[in-house]
Formats: sequence, C-alpha cells, structure tokens
Amino acid sequence: MAHQILSRRRQTLNRNSTEFSNRITYDRHMTTAALYLRISRDLTGEQLGVDRQRDAAEEYARASGYEVAEVFTDNDISAAGGKRRPGFEALLATLAAGHLSVVIAWNWDRLTRNRPDTVQLIETCQRAKAKVALVRGSDLDMSTPSGRMTAGILAEVAQNEIETKGERQSLAQRQRAMMGRAPKGTRPLGYTVDGDIIDDEAKMVQKIYEAFNAGASLRSLALALSGADGGDLPDVPRAQKHTRTLAIERNARRVADGHEERPVPNDGPWSPSTVLGILRNPRYAGYSTYTPKEVLANGDRRRSWRAQIIRGDGGEAVLGQWEPIVNPGTWEAVQDRLDDPARVTNRAGTDRKHLGSGLYLCGVCGKPVKAHGQRYRCAGHILRTRSHIDDFVVEVIRRRLALPDLHDLLPGADEPRLKEIKSEIGVHRARIARAERDYDSDDEDVRISARVLNRITDDREAKIRTLEAERAKLSSGAAMGRVFGAKDPVQAFDDGDLATRRSTIEVLCEVELHPHPRGKKGFNPESVTITWRE
Ligand SMILES: [Zn+2]
Repeated sequence: MAHQILSRRRQTLNRNSTEFSNRITYDRHMTTAALYLRISRDLTGEQLGVDRQRDAAEEYARASGYEVAEVFTDNDISAAGGKRRPGFEALLATLAAGHLSVVIAWNWDRLTRNRPDTVQLIETCQRAKAKVALVRGSDLDMSTPSGRMTAGILAEVAQNEIETKGERQSLAQRQRAMMGRAPKGTRPLGYTVDGDIIDDEAKMVQKIYEAFNAGASLRSLALALSGADGGDLPDVPRAQKHTRTLAIERNARRVADGHEERPVPNDGPWSPSTVLGILRNPRYAGYSTYTPKEVLANGDRRRSWRAQIIRGDGGEAVLGQWEPIVNPGTWEAVQDRLDDPARVTNRAGTDRKHLGSGLYLCGVCGKPVKAHGQRYRCAGHILRTRSHIDDFVVEVIRRRLALPDLHDLLPGADEPRLKEIKSEIGVHRARIARAERDYDSDDEDVRISARVLNRITDDREAKIRTLEAERAKLSSGAAMGRVFGAKDPVQAFDDGDLATRRSTIEVLCEVELHPHPRGKKGFNPESVTITWRE
C-alpha cells in the first residue's frame, strides 16, 4: 500500500520536479484537454459567440483525439471594467496542477487578452509541458524544442513590452524613495498611507518584534495574534487580520465616494508568512525602501528585504520621512535571527529522543505531537503508533533524497542572500575607501580628521566581519550540508544521527498526523500528510 502511494507520488514529482504534491486526484493522459472559451466585445470580423467557439473546439478535439476534461469560460462583456477572468485563472491553476496536457482555444486572441496573460499562459504551459492547440492557427507544443522556442520568443516579446511600460513608473517610485517619502500603495500595519503612526497598531508591531527577539517562533506569533491556543505569548495582543482591516477601510472609502459597499472577507487566523513580512519590513526601522524589479521577478522579496533599503551614493541607508516604530538595532537583530539557518531547525532541536516528537504536527490543532510510550500523541486528538509513522516518513524522505534536484534545496545555497552579502560588503568597503580619500584630500571642505576616519573604518569593518561570518555559515550550510551536499544523500541520511535526520525532515517538509480512520486495521498512509516546502 505504502509503496503504491509512493510510486504515484514519484510520478508526479518526475513530471514536474519543482511541484511535489502528495495528493493525486487526477490522472493526466497525453490527450487530456481543456477548452477555453471567451466572449468579448472586440469581435474583429468573426462574430463568435461562446456556443460557436465551443462547437468548433469540440469538433477539433474529436478530430485530434483529445478528451475534453473541462471547459473554462469567460465573458468580458458582463465583467465590469474587464478585470475579472475567473475562467482563465481557473485554467492556469488546473494547468499548474499538472492536470492537463492540451489547451484548446479558437485562436490566440481568444485565449489571451493582453501581454501579461500571454506570458503567464506560456510560462505555465512550459512548466506543465502542456500544448496549446488552436482551432484557427498553429499549435504550440511545449513538449518539443521548436514549440518551446516559439513560445519562448512570444513570451519574451510580450515581456519586453510590459517592462518598457513599467520602466517610467519604477523610476518615479525610486525617486520618491530617494527623497524618503512613504511608498504609495497599501499601508503596512502601524502606519497610515501617508506614513503617520497608528498607535495601537504600532504597539502590536513592537510586541511582535520583541517577542521574536526573545525567541518566539513565527508560528507561535501567528497563533497568538489569532488568539488561538498554543501561542503562549501573553504580551502579543489578539488582532483582526490586517488584510481584513484594509478591506474594511477600502469599503468605507468606497461608501464615502458614493459607491456600493462590498462584502468584507471573514476574519481568519494570521499566517506565519504574514508575521515574517512584518518582521522583514525595513520601513519599521525608518529605512526608505524601493523594490528593484529583479527582486520582484525573483519572487524572493522577503529574503532580500535588506536589499530593498535604498542607499545614497556613499552607501548609507536613506531614512524615510516617517517615524520609526522599531529601533534599527532591534530590526537588524531580528534580521540576523531570521537569516540564521540554525533557526529553521530549532523545532527539530528541542526534543531529540524520537524522530517525530516536537516535529510532526497534529492534523487537528496544528501543534507538534509528543512521544507517549510507543506512540505519538496530541492529547485528545492523536494517538498513533510511532514505528509505523516513522517508517513511512523515512521511506518518503529517502525517495525524495534520491531525486536529482537536491542542490536547489540546500540551505547553504541561498544564492540571493550570498549575492546580497557580497554587495553589502562592497558598500562598506566603498565607504572606507571614500573616507580614506577624504582624509587625504587637499580640499578643506571635504577633508576629514584621523579620528573620523578611524571611527568610520572601525564601524564599517565591524559590519563587514558580521557579514563575513554570516556568509561562512550560509556557505557551509551547517549540519544540512552533510546530507544535501553528500554524494549519496540517501546513504548520508541513513547514516545520519537522530538530529541530522530530524533536521533533514524539517528542512524538506511538514509532516501532519491525522487520527487513524475508525475500523481500519494496519497503517494507512493517507492518514499522514506530507507537505513539501517550497
Ligand atoms: Zn492536537
């Protein structure tokens, strides 16, 4: 049973190694197709209703031997402002999940409405190795090199146009940031849109920073903010989710402008990643920020918050015109802790007697389970035989380790951060060099004293030392390097001590135990959820 499940998992992974889903709900064949139909106002020449598109596409599918599994439809005419396209989004999601091998549409103009659509569709198809078949027009087969090349060119042309358009905008934003003005857009927790402090929210931000600095985890902070059991952080107040607050504020503005009120989403629990976003935001320390396009494109915004601090010619951080909520020293200390690779394995380190105690989570309440005799237990929720679960988890992990893409997961291979460290060191060295030049200068307006030169040099050297220490730690990858960096990671995992094995599991995935199904005998692998980390 377990092996069957595992081989199915393996299949998914091979199809798309970056997306390793542990739940298979759909069997994709080479001929599994979706139809995408769109009715729009700009009917150029061909007055195509959805019905006609559908008939033609179905006929085309039959003739080509495709099985139509789903039909997605959008209606641009009824959508106010033409903004919503639920059909297209659902199509992308289904493609991304690997459920389709073919998308059939009338022609390109029906399929994508603008450049961003085109880029998104092509990229999604490329990742899923899916084909685009057009009733009118030539197909793009992403499983062949020529199809991928054509798609790549199409996407590049489209991307280029988007970027040129965005360039002027980003220049203006960068200038705002250089002047230390509050960034436009959504207000962060604690500040108004104009950068004024909102007292009670600012207090919350301070409490979050203090608790994290005192050793609280992102997860326990999220629980405390949500008012859930297990947060155990009495100083952190329970609060409505910030996104909900924003939605209510937006609504109030809408009503004030004479528009109709919209339903506000229900309040829900805070997520650890929201807490992370708060802890990473340099604005709280008073730093002016600007997000370079390449950072956004990287999708690595939070890890590189430091790189978003905008700097003057001498490399010094530009301060915003707003009041800081957290002092810069606290902010830096929090960043150091967030960057510490050992932090990731903190949970694994608290209880070392068994593979999963304090590490596996209760599927009912989300808290870590404890060892209880021969079992794992979460009181009142879970009581499961330890050896069954450990055997299963170990086997899944071994299979994961046997796949060839491991270097991508190596915590030590945090390339963006390593690059960032390099550039930060460069900034400090440049500042020292400039101070030395100024000291030597003949120009009295520029010249600095030996005392000032020493102060600058000492200060910057200290910062460089800290950065170099971080770099060393990242590069060595601590204990994880032993497994992920090994020639045979499966063997290294087998040979590893308990701490190494626990850390390996924690770095790779989250393991959730569910109550054993009633009336079933033996171990049921479906009762353990393994969620792979990105
Ligand atoms: Zn529980």
